[in-house]
Amino acid sequence: MRLVLLGPPGAGKGTQSKNLAKRVALVHISTGDILRQNVANQTKLGMEAKDYMNKGELVPDGLVSQMLLDRIKHPDAKNGYILDGYPRNVSQAETLDKELPGKEKINLVVYLETSEAVIIQRLSGRRVCSKCGALFHMQNMPPKKENTCDACGEALYQRPDDKEATIKNRIQVYNKEAQELIGYYSKQNKLHRINADLDAGVVLNKIVQLVEEYNDPAKV
Ligand code: AMP
Repeated sequence: MRLVLLGPPGAGKGTQSKNLAKRVALVHISTGDILRQNVANQTKLGMEAKDYMNKGELVPDGLVSQMLLDRIKHPDAKNGYILDGYPRNVSQAETLDKELPGKEKINLVVYLETSEAVIIQRLSGRRVCSKCGALFHMQNMPPKKENTCDACGEALYQRPDDKEATIKNRIQVYNKEAQELIGYYSKQNKLHRINADLDAGVVLNKIVQLVEEYNDPAKV
Protein backbone atom coordinates (compact mmCIF):
# COMPACT_ATOMS: atom_id res chain seq x y z
CA MET A 1 0.00 0.00 0.00
CA ARG A 2 1.34 3.40 -1.02
CA LEU A 3 -0.58 6.25 0.51
CA VAL A 4 -0.30 10.02 0.12
CA LEU A 5 -1.54 12.39 2.82
CA LEU A 6 -2.40 15.80 1.38
CA GLY A 7 -3.37 18.87 3.34
CA PRO A 8 -2.20 22.34 4.29
CA PRO A 9 0.53 22.87 6.86
CA GLY A 10 -1.13 22.24 10.23
CA ALA A 11 -3.63 19.70 8.87
CA GLY A 12 -1.94 17.11 11.07
CA LYS A 13 -0.13 15.18 8.32
CA GLY A 14 2.91 14.55 10.54
CA THR A 15 0.93 13.42 13.59
CA GLN A 16 -1.47 11.31 11.55
CA SER A 17 1.34 9.70 9.52
CA LYS A 18 3.31 8.76 12.65
CA ASN A 19 0.23 7.19 14.29
CA LEU A 20 -0.98 5.57 11.08
CA ALA A 21 2.44 4.00 10.45
CA LYS A 22 2.07 2.16 13.78
CA ARG A 23 -1.50 1.02 13.09
CA VAL A 24 -1.02 -0.27 9.52
CA ALA A 25 2.71 -1.15 9.49
CA LEU A 26 3.77 1.27 6.75
CA VAL A 27 6.88 3.47 6.70
CA HIS A 28 6.34 7.19 7.25
CA ILE A 29 8.27 9.33 4.77
CA SER A 30 8.19 13.10 5.33
CA THR A 31 10.07 15.29 2.86
CA GLY A 32 9.99 18.13 5.42
CA ASP A 33 11.67 15.89 8.06
CA ILE A 34 14.34 14.71 5.61
CA LEU A 35 15.05 18.29 4.54
CA ARG A 36 15.28 19.49 8.18
CA GLN A 37 17.70 16.65 8.88
CA ASN A 38 19.83 17.81 5.96
CA VAL A 39 19.73 21.40 7.23
CA ALA A 40 20.79 20.25 10.73
CA ASN A 41 23.65 18.17 9.27
CA GLN A 42 24.68 21.04 6.98
CA THR A 43 24.73 18.84 3.90
CA LYS A 44 24.90 20.37 0.41
CA LEU A 45 21.16 19.71 -0.01
CA GLY A 46 20.46 21.25 3.39
CA MET A 47 22.40 24.41 2.50
CA GLU A 48 20.48 24.73 -0.77
CA ALA A 49 17.09 24.14 0.88
CA LYS A 50 17.44 26.23 4.05
CA ASP A 51 16.50 29.69 2.76
CA TYR A 52 13.43 28.45 0.91
CA MET A 53 12.26 26.60 4.02
CA ASN A 54 12.76 29.53 6.38
CA LYS A 55 10.68 31.75 4.10
CA GLY A 56 7.94 29.12 3.77
CA GLU A 57 8.64 28.72 0.03
CA LEU A 58 8.84 25.40 -1.78
CA VAL A 59 12.29 23.90 -2.29
CA PRO A 60 12.84 23.46 -6.07
CA ASP A 61 11.20 20.29 -7.45
CA GLY A 62 14.42 18.81 -8.80
CA LEU A 63 16.10 18.75 -5.38
CA VAL A 64 13.11 17.38 -3.48
CA SER A 65 12.06 14.80 -6.08
CA GLN A 66 15.50 13.22 -6.31
CA MET A 67 15.73 13.09 -2.54
CA LEU A 68 12.29 11.43 -2.30
CA LEU A 69 12.98 8.90 -5.07
CA ASP A 70 16.22 7.90 -3.32
CA ARG A 71 14.36 7.48 -0.03
CA ILE A 72 11.59 5.23 -1.38
CA LYS A 73 14.19 2.87 -2.84
CA HIS A 74 15.32 1.91 0.69
CA PRO A 75 14.45 -1.70 1.59
CA ASP A 76 12.26 -0.54 4.52
CA ALA A 77 9.84 1.07 2.02
CA LYS A 78 9.51 -2.06 -0.11
CA ASN A 79 6.14 -3.10 1.31
CA GLY A 80 4.63 0.35 1.25
CA TYR A 81 4.77 3.81 2.75
CA ILE A 82 2.90 6.94 3.75
CA LEU A 83 4.04 10.09 1.96
CA ASP A 84 3.75 13.24 4.06
CA GLY A 85 4.56 16.54 2.32
CA TYR A 86 5.12 15.06 -1.15
CA PRO A 87 3.85 15.67 -3.77
CA ARG A 88 3.23 19.39 -3.23
CA ASN A 89 2.28 20.21 -6.84
CA VAL A 90 1.22 18.49 -10.06
CA SER A 91 4.73 18.42 -11.43
CA GLN A 92 5.88 16.37 -8.39
CA ALA A 93 2.82 14.09 -8.71
CA GLU A 94 3.69 13.49 -12.37
CA THR A 95 7.29 12.71 -11.44
CA LEU A 96 6.04 10.12 -8.96
CA ASP A 97 3.68 8.52 -11.51
CA LYS A 98 6.44 8.44 -14.10
CA GLU A 99 9.11 6.99 -11.82
CA LEU A 100 7.06 4.38 -9.93
CA PRO A 101 6.81 1.06 -11.75
CA GLY A 102 3.29 -0.17 -12.71
CA LYS A 103 2.60 -2.32 -9.68
CA GLU A 104 4.04 0.22 -7.26
CA LYS A 105 1.84 3.21 -8.12
CA ILE A 106 0.18 5.33 -5.43
CA ASN A 107 -2.98 3.51 -4.30
CA LEU A 108 -4.76 6.00 -2.08
CA VAL A 109 -4.70 9.77 -1.53
CA VAL A 110 -6.25 11.26 1.59
CA TYR A 111 -6.90 14.98 1.68
CA LEU A 112 -7.06 16.42 5.21
CA GLU A 113 -9.38 19.43 4.85
CA THR A 114 -8.61 22.06 7.48
CA SER A 115 -9.90 25.58 8.21
CA GLU A 116 -7.45 28.48 8.38
CA ALA A 117 -8.23 29.30 12.04
CA VAL A 118 -7.38 25.72 13.06
CA ILE A 119 -4.16 25.77 11.00
CA ILE A 120 -2.88 28.92 12.72
CA GLN A 121 -3.81 27.65 16.20
CA ARG A 122 -2.08 24.29 15.58
CA LEU A 123 1.10 25.61 13.99
CA SER A 124 1.76 28.53 16.32
CA GLY A 125 1.53 26.19 19.35
CA ARG A 126 3.53 23.34 17.80
CA ARG A 127 6.83 22.33 19.42
CA VAL A 128 9.25 19.65 18.16
CA CYS A 129 11.87 17.61 20.00
CA SER A 130 15.32 18.66 18.85
CA LYS A 131 16.57 15.08 19.13
CA CYS A 132 13.86 12.53 18.27
CA GLY A 133 11.39 14.72 16.34
CA ALA A 134 8.41 13.93 18.62
CA LEU A 135 5.60 16.47 18.20
CA PHE A 136 3.89 18.45 20.99
CA HIS A 137 1.46 21.34 21.23
CA MET A 138 1.51 24.00 23.94
CA GLN A 139 -2.27 23.74 24.49
CA ASN A 140 -3.50 20.56 22.75
CA MET A 141 -0.69 18.16 23.72
CA PRO A 142 1.72 19.79 26.20
CA PRO A 143 4.79 17.86 27.38
CA LYS A 144 4.71 16.63 30.99
CA LYS A 145 7.69 18.84 31.87
CA GLU A 146 7.89 22.32 30.38
CA ASN A 147 9.83 22.49 27.11
CA THR A 148 11.14 18.93 27.50
CA CYS A 149 10.45 15.89 25.33
CA ASP A 150 8.41 13.17 27.12
CA ALA A 151 10.08 10.47 25.02
CA CYS A 152 13.80 11.32 25.27
CA GLY A 153 14.17 14.28 27.67
CA GLU A 154 15.73 16.66 25.13
CA ALA A 155 14.71 20.30 24.70
CA LEU A 156 11.77 21.22 22.48
CA TYR A 157 11.98 23.97 19.87
CA GLN A 158 9.67 25.95 17.63
CA ARG A 159 10.31 25.43 13.91
CA PRO A 160 11.45 28.74 12.39
CA ASP A 161 8.70 28.42 9.77
CA ASP A 162 6.02 28.01 12.47
CA LYS A 163 6.22 31.75 13.35
CA GLU A 164 2.98 33.55 12.46
CA ALA A 165 4.33 35.64 9.53
CA THR A 166 5.73 32.55 7.81
CA ILE A 167 2.63 30.45 8.52
CA LYS A 168 0.51 32.84 6.42
CA ASN A 169 2.95 32.55 3.50
CA ARG A 170 3.00 28.75 3.77
CA ILE A 171 -0.81 28.64 3.62
CA GLN A 172 -0.78 30.86 0.50
CA VAL A 173 1.94 28.76 -1.15
CA TYR A 174 -0.01 25.62 -0.32
CA ASN A 175 -3.35 26.93 -1.63
CA LYS A 176 -1.80 28.05 -4.90
CA GLU A 177 -0.86 24.47 -5.81
CA ALA A 178 -3.43 22.45 -3.87
CA GLN A 179 -6.52 22.69 -6.06
CA GLU A 180 -4.66 21.48 -9.13
CA LEU A 181 -3.15 18.60 -7.18
CA ILE A 182 -6.54 17.61 -5.75
CA GLY A 183 -7.98 17.69 -9.29
CA TYR A 184 -5.11 15.51 -10.51
CA TYR A 185 -5.83 12.74 -7.98
CA SER A 186 -9.63 13.12 -8.29
CA LYS A 187 -9.34 12.33 -11.98
CA GLN A 188 -7.43 9.16 -11.06
CA ASN A 189 -10.27 8.25 -8.63
CA LYS A 190 -7.81 8.02 -5.75
CA LEU A 191 -8.83 11.05 -3.68
CA HIS A 192 -10.71 10.83 -0.35
CA ARG A 193 -11.54 13.88 1.77
CA ILE A 194 -11.56 13.89 5.57
CA ASN A 195 -12.50 16.79 7.85
CA ALA A 196 -9.21 17.31 9.72
CA ASP A 197 -10.60 20.00 12.04
CA LEU A 198 -11.93 17.05 14.05
CA ASP A 199 -10.13 15.41 16.96
CA ALA A 200 -6.88 13.65 15.89
CA GLY A 201 -8.11 10.23 17.09
CA VAL A 202 -11.31 10.52 15.05
CA VAL A 203 -9.33 11.50 11.94
CA LEU A 204 -6.93 8.59 12.43
CA ASN A 205 -9.80 6.08 12.66
CA LYS A 206 -11.27 7.41 9.42
CA ILE A 207 -7.93 7.03 7.61
CA VAL A 208 -7.44 3.49 8.96
CA GLN A 209 -10.95 2.63 7.72
CA LEU A 210 -10.07 3.87 4.22
CA VAL A 211 -6.89 1.78 4.20
CA GLU A 212 -8.80 -1.31 5.35
CA GLU A 213 -11.52 -0.77 2.74
CA TYR A 214 -8.86 -0.49 0.08
CA ASN A 215 -7.06 -3.64 1.23
CA ASP A 216 -10.23 -5.66 1.58
CA PRO A 217 -13.29 -4.07 -0.06
CA ALA A 218 -15.43 -7.11 0.82
CA LYS A 219 -14.89 -6.59 4.56
CA VAL A 220 -16.68 -3.21 4.71
P1 AMP B 1 6.65 20.41 5.98
O1 AMP B 1 7.39 19.79 7.12
O2 AMP B 1 5.96 19.39 5.09
O3 AMP B 1 5.72 21.52 6.42
O4 AMP B 1 7.76 21.10 5.04
C1 AMP B 1 8.58 22.13 5.53
C2 AMP B 1 9.21 22.86 4.37
O5 AMP B 1 10.04 21.96 3.63
C3 AMP B 1 8.23 23.43 3.33
O6 AMP B 1 7.72 24.70 3.71
C4 AMP B 1 9.13 23.49 2.10
O7 AMP B 1 10.02 24.59 2.19
C5 AMP B 1 9.96 22.23 2.23
N1 AMP B 1 9.31 21.07 1.58
C6 AMP B 1 8.84 19.93 2.14
N2 AMP B 1 8.33 19.10 1.23
C7 AMP B 1 8.46 19.72 0.04
C8 AMP B 1 8.11 19.38 -1.31
N3 AMP B 1 7.48 18.23 -1.60
N4 AMP B 1 8.42 20.27 -2.29
C9 AMP B 1 9.05 21.42 -2.02
N5 AMP B 1 9.39 21.82 -0.78
C10 AMP B 1 9.11 20.98 0.24
